Amino acid sequence: MGLYVGGFGVMDRQIAAAAALLKKSRYMVALTGAGLSTPSGIPDFRSPQSGVWDQLDPMEVASLTAFRLRPQLFFDWVRPLTHTILAAQPNPAHLALAQLERYGPLKAVITQNIDMLHTRAGSQIVYEVHGDLRTATCLDCGFACDAHDVLQQIMKQQTIPTCPTCGGVMKPNVVLFGEALPWAIFEQARNAAANCDLMLIAGSSLEVAPASDLPYLAKRNRAPLIIVNWGQTPLDSLADVIIRGNVADVLPRLAESFSPQ
Ligand code: ZN
Repeated sequence: MGLYVGGFGVMDRQIAAAAALLKKSRYMVALTGAGLSTPSGIPDFRSPQSGVWDQLDPMEVASLTAFRLRPQLFFDWVRPLTHTILAAQPNPAHLALAQLERYGPLKAVITQNIDMLHTRAGSQIVYEVHGDLRTATCLDCGFACDAHDVLQQIMKQQTIPTCPTCGGVMKPNVVLFGEALPWAIFEQARNAAANCDLMLIAGSSLEVAPASDLPYLAKRNRAPLIIVNWGQTPLDSLADVIIRGNVADVLPRLAESFSPQ
């Protein structure tokens, strides 16, 4: 990326400054976004620049209103993304966060990602504030089930998955545009952010509210902020350390002093 300035010396100093904050922390929280999973090959599907949208307007296919009106369009759009997500593997950034929970100060991961790669990497406390692909719910009667069969149907049969109870449309439990966040999970995420003594923000451009408001809760508790992201974020001026690097390179370096030895 052309934004990179300063060479390895600057990067090493920033990583050392971040590592010193980790050493002092007793209650660290990580906030992750799409950039954490791009090294796993999953595109940032909320970003207009990702290529996922091509000529499509996100609101035309991935909003709650669009889903209710034209579910077939949504499933046609989400099919290749589902294939990509189910085939993806956790990358070194996910593994580093699992290591920091097991052997270091990390108490929770708050993620905007729906790909479930944090739990697959071994993280235990994960708040998926934009939902996940584990379960699916009927929008008409509320019937809920494991999403496995629904996803298989999306990928193989190219038809709309319907509710066995009432015939309504089954929706994977991902938060669509215009849909409320899962309230109980977001409350837990807010609590973790409000109580942490260090927040690590990785792979998020902090542009999607209300998840992007969580760093303010941390700052109110005087927690330092570390931001690891290629691009600028609206909260850069609040950050104590900013590392413009690849999360899959930087996070393992932050985790390396936390191990069983
Ligand atoms: Zn139903």
